[in-house]
Amino acid sequence: MELDSFDQFALNKQLLTAVAELGYTTPTPIQQKTIPLILGNHDVLGIAQTGTGKTAAYVLPLLMKTKYAQGKHPRALILAPTRELVIQIDEAIGQLGKHTDLRHVAIYGGLGPKTQLAILKEGVDIIVATPGRFMDLYLMEALITKDLKTMILDEADKMMDMGFMPQIRKILEVIPRKRQNLLFSATFPDRVENLSAEFLEAPVRVEVSPQASTADMVSQVLYTAPNFRTKINLLEHLVETEDFSRGIVFTRSKTNAENVFKFLQRKVTGEGQVRVIHANKGQNTRINSMEAFKEGNIKVLVATDVAARGIDVAEVSHVINFDVPIIYEDYVHRIGRTGRANRSGKAITFMTPPEEYHIKKIEKIIRMTIPRENLPGSVAVVETPFDEQQAMLREIDEQRRKEDPTFQGAFHEKKSLGVAKDRAIKKNMLAAKAAKMGVKPTGSSTGKGKSSGARTTGNKRFSKPGGPGRSGTNKGKSQR
Ligand code: AMP
Repeated sequence: MELDSFDQFALNKQLLTAVAELGYTTPTPIQQKTIPLILGNHDVLGIAQTGTGKTAAYVLPLLMKTKYAQGKHPRALILAPTRELVIQIDEAIGQLGKHTDLRHVAIYGGLGPKTQLAILKEGVDIIVATPGRFMDLYLMEALITKDLKTMILDEADKMMDMGFMPQIRKILEVIPRKRQNLLFSATFPDRVENLSAEFLEAPVRVEVSPQASTADMVSQVLYTAPNFRTKINLLEHLVETEDFSRGIVFTRSKTNAENVFKFLQRKVTGEGQVRVIHANKGQNTRINSMEAFKEGNIKVLVATDVAARGIDVAEVSHVINFDVPIIYEDYVHRIGRTGRANRSGKAITFMTPPEEYHIKKIEKIIRMTIPRENLPGSVAVVETPFDEQQAMLREIDEQRRKEDPTFQGAFHEKKSLGVAKDRAIKKNMLAAKAAKMGVKPTGSSTGKGKSSGARTTGNKRFSKPGGPGRSGTNKGKSQR
């Protein structure tokens, strides 16, 4: 049966009214498949990226089953990897449950627990939480788990990436065994498969292909830029010339996020039109920035990936990967921010020579080649400063060594050579690599080196970019 209307689900009037008020007319594919299964008490394994309507796919049947406010202790628990996602899911519950009396709370760290404790004391039906804070409150005996009947893990792959597995195991030990379990994940690597085997009982697997949604809704473009400064020029060009109504710029490190933010504020958008979020920003600042962005008060949000996970903004016109994500699934998550729910969007990625390694891996995951475009003529290609060049070469070496452990490394081999000669060789290598990639080689290879590079970039305005020195193996959270 084609479920092309929400009326065909066994949902009550309160929920259907809320759905209509939100302007949802047709259930998305994940909703069509998942809602009847959850209502039928099955455990469900949902492979769906953000942007597919997966939140409503489990929130609607959950609200239906939890019915109305009852007792003091929570009956459903939703775990999510980040504060932002927790807040977003809690908001979805608020919107979809608007005409019910169900009580719900978002539980996350970074703020004192006082408000959260007070809400719990009053009694709640549904808890949305990050694993750490949930466990903290449980250990404080502020949370009674005996009435939990449904447990949902959202963005399970990200939870694994962020090292939440031990906490999830502890939580599973302290909640009732007899319950319905739902697990959602954007990707399905082995570790999520293992988790689902442990966590779900005879699950029904539901999958909506990221490939289809990626290709259908989002146009993707890849630009090759030789260095940080050229990326900045390209960003300036795009923000000024594209129909850039609201965009998110993702960077690989906090340093890059700050530099990009400062540049946009000073040179492109002016004050008040751009905000930045990353792990060093206080929780309140992050929430305020996100709210301002959601409400359409700012044009550009610059973010490191972890800080930005879970942002739900329906009308993002552009996602710009200023740096290529080195956690590859993040590419899928990031472009899921645009082209949501029948709106088209554009995902633009900038790639330096060492980042090509990661792009190839991403293309394997999304099972398509991202269309390449030449840099627009008006974008100035800047010579790569010596230090940045060195860092890139080192990174390429590390990548080659990772693929082939016997590889000695072009970079380290030549350490003993005279400095000037050494620089000239490295410059040549980089130019050759850049040429191979179809990038206009920057600067001469005569070994003028450092001084000319530093002069051309006029780099005073930037502190050293945090990106190029990092290797693909180093997924440290602290950077983000
Ligand atoms: P999600 O994948 O859960 O992050 O949802 C992506 C976006 O789609 C959110 O902004 C939802 O409000 C919206 N959405 C969810 N379901 C529908 C639907 N059936 N029709 C239109 N928009 C929807």
